[in-house]
Amino acid sequence: MSSRARQIRALESAQPSVHVTGRAALRLRAGHPWVYRSDLEGNSLLPRGGLVRVLSENERFLGCALASSSSQIALRMISTEETDDAAIPELVSQRIAQAGEYRTRLGIPAQSNAYRVVFSEADQLPGLIIDRYHDVVAFQVLTQAMDRNDVRQAVLGALERQFHPAGIVERVEERIRELEDLAPMAGGLVRGERSHTRIEMNASAAHPALRFEYSAESGQKTGAFLDQRENYAAAERYARGEALDVFCYQGGFALHLARTSKQVTGVDASRPALEAAERNFELNRDALAAQEIEWLEANAFDVLRDWSDAGRSFGTIVLDPPAFAKSKRALPTALRGYKELNLRALKMIDPGGILVTCSCSHHLTEEEFLSMLSEAARDAHRRIRLLEVRGQSQDHPVVAGIAETAYLKCVIAYVE
Ligand code: SAH
Repeated sequence: MSSRARQIRALESAQPSVHVTGRAALRLRAGHPWVYRSDLEGNSLLPRGGLVRVLSENERFLGCALASSSSQIALRMISTEETDDAAIPELVSQRIAQAGEYRTRLGIPAQSNAYRVVFSEADQLPGLIIDRYHDVVAFQVLTQAMDRNDVRQAVLGALERQFHPAGIVERVEERIRELEDLAPMAGGLVRGERSHTRIEMNASAAHPALRFEYSAESGQKTGAFLDQRENYAAAERYARGEALDVFCYQGGFALHLARTSKQVTGVDASRPALEAAERNFELNRDALAAQEIEWLEANAFDVLRDWSDAGRSFGTIVLDPPAFAKSKRALPTALRGYKELNLRALKMIDPGGILVTCSCSHHLTEEEFLSMLSEAARDAHRRIRLLEVRGQSQDHPVVAGIAETAYLKCVIAYVE
């Protein structure tokens, strides 16, 4: 390269630099990838979705990050090495390939043809989520950087090379786009033709894989909760007697329990979810021990209160409520909700029965969840043994140093 060309190259690749507080530098060095707006030094003007070099107060290079002009999380680290903005699409495509290799190495595609391919920060792709549902791939963009046209094209290209899907759909959450100051847009099919399919998971020596519908079509969204897949199988291993799946959605736990349990009831407040659950039941009917599953459209709190007051009992109860704690502030109220559910369920479990109890709120730590559970057991006058304290499936990696990546708790308890 001539010195002139080198000069031009250097100019072109000159990336804006931002300085961060000592507190932020410590967090970054410990492996956490975020810099909050309040941790920016000086009045740094951040390029919308662009790459910035991150420096400590004493000019030490900490890595490169993707910036947001609006989020409270101003910077999300993308590399610990020097790189430039134009290299981001290629880096994103490499990381998607690496994320795929990681899952293949763990044998995940052999357990399920539906799994999370990219889990944002946990796969060093902050702001990008990709789920594979057999021949349909769904992605969601959560940040300005991942919304860039060049990055989007790289994502689509990588997905086509890696999976040759029959359809790629974009999932859109309006609120997230608003917070990130992104123009509203409609989700749906962006490549190919298919936006609905059937997925299969968790075949075992004793049972063929269970099938579930997946549809990204607006109005009739369906899909399994992929982060619970390994917990479905674990719950099935311990289940005994008559089973109750509370907050059953489209039947993830209920269908697994129905492989061994003759009597299964699923409770959910959403009728469309229960209709999908019944279609899923039909898809698997021949492979199940249960001749039918009773789906009950009701408020779970009412059902648990009424049935526990009436002295109904079950051999196995699953509790998988939506995230009650959407923020740290909501935690005390959320804990009361969790405790009420667990207390009622514990009262109804036969001696020697099984409680499978979950929380998907990352504001609630495992320790807080376990202490709520022991209080509920004390108040229900039941002694419980913790058989397994589990988290999310391995296709939703938990990264040491990034607490937010561990959000799902699933405790399997033996109730004396
Ligand atoms: N266990 C499911 C996922 C549950 S998601 C699975 O593995 O697929 C949470 C579910 O709780 C949703 O289906 C929602 O409709 C339901 N829900 C929320 N509040 C409820 C309430 N008060 N009573 C009953 N169901 C409720």
